[in-house]
Amino acid sequence: MSGEVGGRGKAGKAGKQQGGGEQGKGGGAGAGRGRGRTRRAVLFTGLGLFAAGAVAGRDEIARLWWLLPGVSKPRKEGELDHAGASWTAASPANWRLADRPDDYRVDRIVVHVTQGGFQSSVDAFRNPWHRASAHYIVRQDGHIEQMVRELDVAFHAANRSMNERSIGIEHVGYVHRRQDFTDAMYAASAKLAADICRRYGIPVDRKHILGHSEVPGADHTDPGPHWDWDRYLRMVREALAGRAGPAGSAPPA
Ligand SMILES: [Zn+2]
Repeated sequence: MSGEVGGRGKAGKAGKQQGGGEQGKGGGAGAGRGRGRTRRAVLFTGLGLFAAGAVAGRDEIARLWWLLPGVSKPRKEGELDHAGASWTAASPANWRLADRPDDYRVDRIVVHVTQGGFQSSVDAFRNPWHRASAHYIVRQDGHIEQMVRELDVAFHAANRSMNERSIGIEHVGYVHRRQDFTDAMYAASAKLAADICRRYGIPVDRKHILGHSEVPGADHTDPGPHWDWDRYLRMVREALAGRAGPAGSAPPA
């Protein structure tokens, strides 16, 4: 499970610490980043955003944050990174705006278990007071919900640098219940992980695909002793090689 903001989270002092909640402030955010720039440059940035906002209309202003310096990829609400996933947006308070893999290299996948049901997990990530989120939630029937774009930093690993370099995948269930980790869940998650590994060039091994409990400083136990790592990595490799069997195909025991 997540359950906490990643490391020092939004309060960090590094230059890239634009909180997710700052999106939509337009010129204000531009001016805030203007240290070292000329006043003219700051003014121009602000005017540019204002003009763009005027053209796009009032409803679009909140989405113009991607015009800010360093955040250049155009996005559409509801856009997905993994075909077959559904989209529910996490609260912007539970993740941080980024432009990965351009600003942070993505080279880790962190496996979680929710310690709760699907809907309560979705609700938690939508709740601005929860202070945590993950990119994906995989259900026991193989359904995948995406809640944070891979471009952005989800707060799932309780470790800031790990959050910045990783994609977080939650699995619905409880660490002490082996039966929660179904064939369909392994199959869907392995396909998702393979897709992520392919897109970012992440090696399929236990160094790059790790459990939340293995994140430095973690005080969480997920995914726990019943998560079958050998099976999972084998399925990820099979999916990467295009040899994935039908969903839920059981490997030899
Ligand atoms: Zn976790």
